[in-house]
Amino acid sequence: MNVLLIGSGGREHALAWKLAQSPLLGTLFCAPGNPGIADEATNVVLDISNHQAVIDFCRLQNISLVIVGPEAPLVDGIADSLRAANISVFGPSQAASQLEGSKGFTKDLCAKYNIPTAAYQRFNNAPKAKAYIRAQGAPIVIKADGLAAGKGVTVAMTMAEAMDAIDDCFEGAFGEAGAEVVVEEYLEGPEISFFCLCDGKIAVPMTSAQDHKRVGEGDTGPNTGGMGAYSPAPLFDAEMQADVMKRIIEPTMHGMAEMGNPFSGVLFCGIMVTEDGPKLIEYNVRFGDPECEVLMLRLESDLLPLLKASADNDLTDAKLKWSDDTALTVVMCAPNYPATPQKGSKIDLETVSTISGVKIFHAGTALKDGALIANGGRVLAVCGSGSTVKEAQSKAYEGVKAVNWPEGFYRSDIGWRAL
Ligand code: AMP
Repeated sequence: MNVLLIGSGGREHALAWKLAQSPLLGTLFCAPGNPGIADEATNVVLDISNHQAVIDFCRLQNISLVIVGPEAPLVDGIADSLRAANISVFGPSQAASQLEGSKGFTKDLCAKYNIPTAAYQRFNNAPKAKAYIRAQGAPIVIKADGLAAGKGVTVAMTMAEAMDAIDDCFEGAFGEAGAEVVVEEYLEGPEISFFCLCDGKIAVPMTSAQDHKRVGEGDTGPNTGGMGAYSPAPLFDAEMQADVMKRIIEPTMHGMAEMGNPFSGVLFCGIMVTEDGPKLIEYNVRFGDPECEVLMLRLESDLLPLLKASADNDLTDAKLKWSDDTALTVVMCAPNYPATPQKGSKIDLETVSTISGVKIFHAGTALKDGALIANGGRVLAVCGSGSTVKEAQSKAYEGVKAVNWPEGFYRSDIGWRAL
């Protein structure tokens, strides 16, 4: 099978690394890829927003499966265009991608199908939103409806913060994504990410992970795309998984199909474990980054036939086998991330590449005059595994310390909650 993978981050490097181990793989192409992905795939330049160009490439290269890594092309409808051209694609339709592309859509689905989540209201103007917030009080959560690169959510601990967040949204801080807002009840409890493979009809549980979103030690400071993650999440036992499948995932699959938007691809479920049990915080319609890195390290099954079966709407016989080990990843970032990361510093991976058990996935790297340089905010995902969180953590940090990149920074406490 020739495969086209779309994306350029650590998530796509991890997928490429895993796909490259499949005996079913012919040639793996990645658009646009990155220098790490180049070890596993042929990187190609393609304008992903030009769906016809992607279709033409697939026909020319006899592509049997397209795998879409990030959310933006899905929300933009790339899976629909490919399916209409009879090209098999792993990832949901534009309509089904609303689970990530519109927070209001997901909240309405939850209301209709009785899926446990925070109480909410949708607003398309500031005065009504503010009146509702005054009536509810703080803490309260304000969310821009659309895709806002992970920045559209404000957990407001005071009324003033909540009002500012409403002004930001309606004054255009998130562009079109903020033209509508969801205001919701503040929930408390540990957060877990849970992933399912879906084929439009059924959802097959994958596994769980936990990430660290804040830039600073002890989960402080601004939000980021993710500073590290580990899998599995110790809290998420078989009983909780069964409960989440029954009360959250299965009604979602049923509701989406009934509404004419059957969901296929990977469903990434953000859950808060509250005193009243697990509640849905959000859905994403693709693998998390850096969660994908630790998932791929633990997956023992061949990934390629699983993604193909999801794309072909038949996961009935899918079997997934996971290592019992914990995998943990530490993200190394360019200076001044997440504000305005400084690009261009040199990175030397020679020493770290000799350490057994450490796996490095590239995110924002580039090659300049033959040398590896930082070319984004999150630059490397350094991973380790072990029979305990502690062991996985030690291995990952052994790797981090052997990366020769004086300018890079990272959190030194990834995994602390699990410990
Ligand atoms: P989201 O983009 O919806 O995942 O929100 C980003 C982060 O905001 C989540 O990971 C939570 O930490 C926090 N958050 C979202 N919704 C709530 C809520 N209802 N109560 C408390 N925190 C929340």
